[in-house]
Amino acid sequence: MLPDKALLESVLDEVRPLLGEGKVADYIPALAEVPSDKLGIAVCSAEGGVIGAGDWHEPFSIQSISKVFALMQAMMLYSEEELWQRVGKEPSGNPFNSLVQLEFEKGVPRNPFINAGALVISDMLESRLSAPRQRLLELMRDLSGNAHLISDKVVAASEYQHSARNAAIAYLMKSFGNFHNDVDQVLQTYFSHCAIRMSCADLAKAAYFLCNQGVTLGGRRLVSERQTRQINALLATSGLYDGAGEFAYRVGMPGKSGVGGGIIAVVPGEMSLCVWSPELDDSGNSHAGTAALELLAKRLGRSIF
Ligand code: GLN
Repeated sequence: MLPDKALLESVLDEVRPLLGEGKVADYIPALAEVPSDKLGIAVCSAEGGVIGAGDWHEPFSIQSISKVFALMQAMMLYSEEELWQRVGKEPSGNPFNSLVQLEFEKGVPRNPFINAGALVISDMLESRLSAPRQRLLELMRDLSGNAHLISDKVVAASEYQHSARNAAIAYLMKSFGNFHNDVDQVLQTYFSHCAIRMSCADLAKAAYFLCNQGVTLGGRRLVSERQTRQINALLATSGLYDGAGEFAYRVGMPGKSGVGGGIIAVVPGEMSLCVWSPELDDSGNSHAGTAALELLAKRLGRSIF
């Protein structure tokens, strides 16, 4: 069974009392200005129809959700061997911006969805694309069918002004030889990817290829069936950082969160989803957003497990 609009609305009504329990990300000052009571959900069915409820048409900062699409782009540009030499496939069990494992693991990040891994992927994109900032934005426009998407320059600049930790991660990887381009330039590319603004509707559509064996909503194959399964496997094990186990237990879908409060999720063969609520839990994942996905999965009787 697929959800209908009434079901999505009742899910949002049920989780709305949780608003106020989490905390909006404020380490990127521009993100702290987003109203904390926003709540939206969108579902794109395998047949391609999109429905939603709440603030599902309102754009927000996709932040780490961009890491899924940057990985997809890297998969299109590099061989499997080249790619997985630079970044691992294991859950980190640590916060998304942690440095600790990098020292022991010789500058090779645990997976592409923590900041260290995404910075390596951004470095790889920088090496093979002439305008990597623009190219990811174009990919997102193409996947979502929304030609008006933009990257928010104020958010990107705010991150750049507070980039000490991400810069430290990049320089540590550079010291091990696992970072090839100018750190400053790659950081700016990474921040510009994180600062793309999309709505739940846009993101549910962009994530559609993950539920449709690699074929996009526009009918194009950008990654193979096998690569799509690989992305979903990595999302299930590492998409929610040190909250990935809890998310698998409660929601049971491959997913990816961002500190803007968005989470995309997938039921392969059936639907792609996106929720948005800016207040985060201790792992940096949307508090009410996770609860909404949990409730929806329960009502639909859906889990990949
Ligand atoms: N741009 C954010 C950062 O680098 C992304 C983190 C996130 O969404 N988890 O800190």
